[in-house]
Amino acid sequence: MISVEAALEIILNEIKPLGMERINILSALGRILCEDITAPIDNPPWDNSAMDGYAVKTADTKRASKEKPVLLKVIEDLPAGYTAKKTIKTGEAIRIMTGAPIPKGADAVVMVEDTEKTGGRGLPPQALSGGQGSGVRIFREAKTGDNIRKAGEDFKKGDIVLKKGMNIRPAETGMLAAVGKPNVYVYQKPKVAVLSTGDELVEIEEIPKTGKIINSNSYTLAAQIKECGAIPIQLGIARDTKKDLKEKLYYGLSADCIVSSGGVSVGDFDFVKDVLKELGSDPRLKHAGTGMRFWKVAMKPGKPLAFGIIGGKPAFGLPGNPISSMVAFEQFVRPALLKMSGRTDIFKRPLNALLTKSIKKKTGRMHFVRAVLEEKDGQLYATPQEGQGSGILSSMVKSNCLVILSEDAKDAEKGSTVKVHTVDQSILYQNKPGY
Ligand code: AMP
Ligand code: MG
Repeated sequence: MISVEAALEIILNEIKPLGMERINILSALGRILCEDITAPIDNPPWDNSAMDGYAVKTADTKRASKEKPVLLKVIEDLPAGYTAKKTIKTGEAIRIMTGAPIPKGADAVVMVEDTEKTGGRGLPPQALSGGQGSGVRIFREAKTGDNIRKAGEDFKKGDIVLKKGMNIRPAETGMLAAVGKPNVYVYQKPKVAVLSTGDELVEIEEIPKTGKIINSNSYTLAAQIKECGAIPIQLGIARDTKKDLKEKLYYGLSADCIVSSGGVSVGDFDFVKDVLKELGSDPRLKHAGTGMRFWKVAMKPGKPLAFGIIGGKPAFGLPGNPISSMVAFEQFVRPALLKMSGRTDIFKRPLNALLTKSIKKKTGRMHFVRAVLEEKDGQLYATPQEGQGSGILSSMVKSNCLVILSEDAKDAEKGSTVKVHTVDQSILYQNKPGY
């Protein structure tokens, strides 16, 4: 039996990031960028207005106030998407919309709230000779650069705006669009073959006869695989014979990784580890390293857990009990799949929480205890749930975290601080606005 930490090290030593693929940025959400992205242009490309208002010369607005407005002649209307045809001269303004390029001659924009349109009354006759016939009263002195977004203030031509290894979120998707990249190189998604083993299993559509149970693990595992951003491939059920197991495991070789559940314990029909061993000498699998690495980890639930390499592909033989399988996936398969996907932040961050109930424990195995994590007045509390048996799926449904008690820890007392891993995002959400 090896420790959880040692098992993780053995597994991750075997795992390499997959190759890359070029995909449309609309499909790239949650993927890991495989290239540095350099800006081919400044953004914004030119100085532009941050407000709807009037582009002016600041010198014309000196000492302007509500009581003593300055009257300017409006020589042009400039919507976003167009450039001004005219240059602003002393005593002139251009009506400008947010986003429109700053006209030549202007050095500030006065926002529309600080102005009033006039029909031109009060303007000297020579000012109205251009035929425009309208003016604007300016109620506030403008300073150079007021309400102007400078060219390149977001990023400049040649800047690396996104780095290889970044997770693509909506902001990165927008940035890719902003630099004119419709397609991008990302790491491939791992394809993961899922195999359930056991003579007792029937498919979900069947009504189980006495002694039979529905294969739920294939579905739990598929959902966990999807949650990691990977692609599950269902291999169905293998019966408890070496022949069937071998055959079905071969089916999985076109995937990047194989995950099975059941058949790794010490029962008479637990053949997964034997098969993993035997495949090591199978002449069809010439790949270096084929064979089993370990099959027991000091954890609860999830002790029987085989890991090996088949034809160059990592294979996880998870235990059959539904919670053991889920917990083992979380600890070992998740970081492996994230590493294959090109991520470097592959481990869950532990949070500190106060235990609201004691947990009984002997030393010798790391424990993962289903619990509800809540936050009250800035403090996290973890409440262990009833029904910690490795087959009790309903207590996992009620939980949102696993309390982690280390291998050498004894009973954890009520009120003590423990580490927890969340299993979903529920702690980040609530049923009312959080301001
Ligand atoms: P095993 O590890 O093969 O001895 O399986 C342990 C127990 O886990 C079995 O007795 C079943 O109750 C349960 N089990 C195994 N495989 C599955 C599965 N695919 N779906 C649901 N429960 C399972
Ligand atoms: Mg079994």
